[in-house]
Amino acid sequence: MKESILFKKSTEKSPFLIAGPCSAETEEQVVETAIRLKATGKIDLLRAGIWKPRTRPNSFEGVGEVGLPWLTKAKEITGLKTCVEVANSKHAELAMKHGVDVLWVGARTTVNPFSVQDIADAVTGVDIPIMVKNPINPDLALWLGGIERFEKAGITQLAGIHRGFSDYSQSIYRNKPLWQLPIEMRRLRPDIPLINDPSHICGRRDLLLRVAQKAMDLNFDGLMVESHITPDEAWSDAAQQIVPEVYAELIDSLVLRERNFTTPGYEQSILQWRTEIDAIDAQLFSLLSDRMKVVKQIGQFKKTEGITILQNERWNRIFSESLKKAEKYGLSSEFITNYLRAVHDESIDNQEGIMNS
Ligand code: PEP
Ligand code: MN
Repeated sequence: MKESILFKKSTEKSPFLIAGPCSAETEEQVVETAIRLKATGKIDLLRAGIWKPRTRPNSFEGVGEVGLPWLTKAKEITGLKTCVEVANSKHAELAMKHGVDVLWVGARTTVNPFSVQDIADAVTGVDIPIMVKNPINPDLALWLGGIERFEKAGITQLAGIHRGFSDYSQSIYRNKPLWQLPIEMRRLRPDIPLINDPSHICGRRDLLLRVAQKAMDLNFDGLMVESHITPDEAWSDAAQQIVPEVYAELIDSLVLRERNFTTPGYEQSILQWRTEIDAIDAQLFSLLSDRMKVVKQIGQFKKTEGITILQNERWNRIFSESLKKAEKYGLSSEFITNYLRAVHDESIDNQEGIMNS
């Protein structure tokens, strides 16, 4: 049985901690970062990017194989185990040859089953721990599929890394967290440890704590945080990196809570609220069902009159007036926007069913 590196939090409150620079830049930078991170006492695994898959060309694409001995040296000095990102079988073979302890698959690689399978083939029979980042697009099947490919290759220590998702809409985040995806991952695969990467979600330092705390409150098993000795001069992802000492403060600031209630009789106290919520949900469903009945009547009317389903002016008015109302009720505009879009989609589908039957 191999030594377990990627552990799943059960009763343990403190998260599994991965930290290190976005990219390995020089031997001194890697070694000094490792020493200062080790000194914080808050690190279980050292990370560094050796090959950097960038969205656009002409940015720094990693030092390549020459950086691997720097990690070996950092490990010899600090005793920290190491992990790097691999995007193909060649990377995986080189990393393993240089004694890297854990591999991770980056978001731009998880999207491509050919690449994931290529890496899975390279690690077949080795059983090295592997972490699979979520794909850049919000597609749970691809993320699950990545994990399954490594399971089929005989990998027994696997973890998922939640690093957020890119989409076209404006957001304060570099990659939107879309927390429902990791929550669904957890529901489908409760056996797979989940690590949150606030650095790539936030893209900026000031939001890191908020996201890391939320991950802790959603029972994530670990964190992966980018840390650099001179963040502003980093060759990649400068705006989101923090020095090891600030990293230590970040980890210290986290409020770690129990996963399960321990107070005797807690079930009784919470039962009343949960019953109330269930009753409110039942009312909401009944109201939504009434709403859809009216929508269908309108669909019948539009069919008779021969007019299109989408009435832009009406939709714009519903949208803006509802957002105003939502504010009055203390409901966030993001939530109400999502709600309205879902309701509108369903209404259109209902009318389409009537008009084209
Ligand atoms: C990284 O971890 O440095 C990285 C490139 O991350 P991602 O694959 O999440 O973009
Ligand atoms: Mn990075």
